[in-house]
Amino acid sequence: MTPPATVSPGPVGPALVHPARVRVLHPGQPTAGARPGPVVYWMLRDQRLVDNWALLHAASLAAAAAAPLAIAFSLFPKPFLLSARRRQLGFLLRGLRRLAADAAARRLPFFLLIGGPTEIPGLVHRLGASALIADFSPLRPVREALDAVVGELRRDDAGVAVHQVDAHNVVPVWAASGKLEYSAKTFRSKVSKVLDGYLVDFPGLPEVVPWDGELPEDIDWDVLIDRVCREAENVPEIDWCEPGEAAALETLLGSKDGFLTTRIKNYDMDRNHPTKPKALSGLSPYLHFGHISAQRCALEAKKCRHLSPKSVDAFLEELIIRRELADNFCYYQPHYDSLAGAWEWARKTLKDHAGDKREHIYTREQLENAKTADPLWNASQLEMVHHGKMHGFMRMYWAKKILEWTSGPDEALSIAIYLNDKYQIDGRDPNGYAGCMWSICGLHDQGWKERPVFGKIRYMNYAGCKRKFDVDAYISYVKRL
Ligand code: FAD
Repeated sequence: MTPPATVSPGPVGPALVHPARVRVLHPGQPTAGARPGPVVYWMLRDQRLVDNWALLHAASLAAAAAAPLAIAFSLFPKPFLLSARRRQLGFLLRGLRRLAADAAARRLPFFLLIGGPTEIPGLVHRLGASALIADFSPLRPVREALDAVVGELRRDDAGVAVHQVDAHNVVPVWAASGKLEYSAKTFRSKVSKVLDGYLVDFPGLPEVVPWDGELPEDIDWDVLIDRVCREAENVPEIDWCEPGEAAALETLLGSKDGFLTTRIKNYDMDRNHPTKPKALSGLSPYLHFGHISAQRCALEAKKCRHLSPKSVDAFLEELIIRRELADNFCYYQPHYDSLAGAWEWARKTLKDHAGDKREHIYTREQLENAKTADPLWNASQLEMVHHGKMHGFMRMYWAKKILEWTSGPDEALSIAIYLNDKYQIDGRDPNGYAGCMWSICGLHDQGWKERPVFGKIRYMNYAGCKRKFDVDAYISYVKRL
């Protein structure tokens, strides 16, 4: 994988996009005299046409060079996107189907590559592209795929420029901090200093010259979705959350049930009450698949401060600081999904208590089937399995109990990540790895009073939940789902 420091940040191209948002992975060489080939936006994590800094950068390069613009998306082979289950793949493909239709309406060709990212260099060559623009994810499989593509284009010496744009974070991950941050406090102080420079309105997409090259093959979406979903492990799709940009915007701003229009007032008071799921934004599926930009959510939230300043601040803290801290963690910590990624103090305390006697020990299968002695935990597991999105407060309790009920922290972490990635519609996300690491390995947290099994890792229990909310009401709510 490319170590973060080996590629230099901008300035590159016309200044539509903050130069520090863009990194030059390969400079490329314009061919003298010839008309520059098209600019290709390789869409990975930010699956949207509006409010997308990577697309804006690609379009501004294309407009400046009088070159056409295309979008490419490649399905990842196993073990990443295809290790997504039917639930996540269905959401992804149905979102892409809408995106492809929107792209066609804007006369932007959309190339869907079924064979994986290794097909990207071939497409770049076939189209005679002058530049490839990728968006950003800190996760290993995506970084490895991007590195492989950059390596191949460099070897070919075809003169194609490759840029990367962080279109997911409000403050680009490499601009927010140059190192692994210890806590939300250290990260917050860095982000606050530069936030205003990045939290700006999005410009419109510049006009580009019409596409006159190879046309993408027609996609029979029904056949494709059916085939991909049939091949994937059968975790049923969800029906309460429509994929795509329009539905994402409706969840944020819709007049009937939009988060900012009708629900944000209670966010500060009620967001930790699992019996009031509507107090949360419900945006995580859209943020995960990039159907909405966190920056758009933040800009719109700031306009609602008059409704409840405390709620807006609490929401911005989760949306910007906590979410982007998770990207910081996965970007600078290669072991983001194993005990090796925990701080020394946490590894030590967990090791010291690995041999402690547990009241219960459950297998992964028992946990997956919600067969524990704790009805509250079982309800949270079933909320995730059937609904596809566990309440945020319950996620902490759920993961901590897995630490308590398995033979050691390694096993606990791997089971928590396995279940989270398998069933959550927003799973396979930096937030998920950071969330499991926070709960089980004390990531971004401090040491607490030492106790059996947990050592100095923060502890949560049933009695604490009972004091906080109506546990029976939550269990009944999950039964009705
Ligand atoms: P809201 O409270 O409305 O939050 C708005 C947005 O802020 C979220 O969509 C998310 O992007 C961000 N956010 C909120 N809480 C956190 C947090 N604690 N850390 C980082 N970002 C946050 N989030 C995922 O997106 N995917 C996961 O797979 C995931 N797994 C988790 C596993 C565990 C064990 C824990 C403790 C947390 C996990 N989270 C995960 C974080 C958080 O629980 C969810 O983001 C949140 O519940 C999503 O619902 P919402 O969008 O309605 O939340």
